[in-house]
Amino acid sequence: METTKLPRARFNAKRPGSLVGNITAVLEYLSLLYAKTAPDADSPHETCTTCKGTGTIAGDIDPGSMIAPELSLQRGSVLLWAGTDCKPVAKIKALAAMIGIDFERPLDEQDKRFADILLYGYDAEPVSYVHKGKSFKSHYRGCAFDLQFMRDAGTASKGNLRAIAFFSTKAQCPACNGNEPKLERQAAALMGRSLQELWRLPVAELLRFVRQLPASPDDNARMITSEIAAEIESILTYLQKIGLKTLLRESQHVRPIHLGQIVPASPDVVAAARGM
Ligand SMILES: [Zn+2]
Repeated sequence: METTKLPRARFNAKRPGSLVGNITAVLEYLSLLYAKTAPDADSPHETCTTCKGTGTIAGDIDPGSMIAPELSLQRGSVLLWAGTDCKPVAKIKALAAMIGIDFERPLDEQDKRFADILLYGYDAEPVSYVHKGKSFKSHYRGCAFDLQFMRDAGTASKGNLRAIAFFSTKAQCPACNGNEPKLERQAAALMGRSLQELWRLPVAELLRFVRQLPASPDDNARMITSEIAAEIESILTYLQKIGLKTLLRESQHVRPIHLGQIVPASPDVVAAARGM
């Protein structure tokens, strides 16, 4: 039997890396699972080049998806930077100390205004912080503006592009009108659930689902499936451990950002946009 080449580097619980990277990996692996196990998986079709078969394109940035309030700052409530050692991580830690956000307590147990500050910035005074032995002092602009800046700067980094797609609203693809065979496969049921349903399950429930996946009757598909399922399981186990409740979230703080409303980005964001 041939070995499956997973589309991403294997998850390593000792070095989990970017939280957004791990969440999007689970979403992608679940799609792959549906693609591999659907009866018509091998039927030839041309994939739409505009949407790459997803049927959707990224719309405006959706700030409501950028904060996980069930997590503390330490665990990664600012999803954009969680798990990285970018400058904004050091800056957010210093900002928290400055305005009284408890770094180790979940955000939803604290002043609700903190989430807005983390999203949209803090104008009252600049933040002094240290990153990799160097001192910096600048205003905290907010992760929603950071992401908008990365998007406007035309970032080419795969990780950044994944983050931008993940935190943006989805619009129907104008090239194929969302008319993709792939979408039909996603709507097919695996143990009674469509892919869209799985994406919205609480992490704990999704983990139970993945652990119960029955083996496919086809040998090759079974091997591919079990390998993907094992990878999903190890990432989900980690996400559950840190306390993440859902992969996707309802937008609680929606305030769409439009062009012209953007403040000049601080140098640390410029550096991050050039490749995290
Ligand atoms: Zn398309």
